[in-house]
Amino acid sequence: MPQLHAIRADITKLQVDAIVNAANSSLLGGGGVDGAIHRAAGPDLVHECRLLGGCKTGQAKITKGYRLPASCIIHTVGPVWRGGLQGEPDLLASCYRNSLELAASKQLHSLAFPSISTGIYGYPLELAARVAVNTVRAVAAEHPVVEEVIFCCFSNTDLAVYETVIRELHP
Ligand code: ADP
Repeated sequence: MPQLHAIRADITKLQVDAIVNAANSSLLGGGGVDGAIHRAAGPDLVHECRLLGGCKTGQAKITKGYRLPASCIIHTVGPVWRGGLQGEPDLLASCYRNSLELAASKQLHSLAFPSISTGIYGYPLELAARVAVNTVRAVAAEHPVVEEVIFCCFSNTDLAVYETVIRELHP
């Protein structure tokens, strides 16, 4: 089982093998964590992203980390919350699954996720945290190469929710 924990941090500062970006389908940058990652990584990131041809919701693509302390960036596109009956939970789970599988296929050992879809895309935090923790736990068990997964929360409120969910689901 990998180490799985939640911290409060700016994901662009983390020294891990890969950070995950909650990107939009163009992969060309945006607001929120996406904008912060592009600013911190520098302009070479968008050049590499242009070659990737975008990314569908639930899928994941990888680039170098450029000026980030992290070696790589895994870009995944979360679902926009439309009330929960439009496949949002499965699409969000796919983001976590595909990102982890991509990390494992590249032999990456440590990975940090932001709280995908819970900012501009409006996914309710506690519901999203349950999907995140359950999916990461299940998928990571199949990929022992991934030794450490961090849920990187941007606020103390978000951190408290993740800590509660981790305790409830995996005491
Ligand atoms: P989405 O469009 O998928 O909802 P957002 O970037 O709007 O993506 O928000 C996703 C989460 O990332 C939110 O919890 C937001 O507070 C958080 N976030 C924003 N900037 C950072 C950052 N630098 N490091 C970590 N998390 C961040």
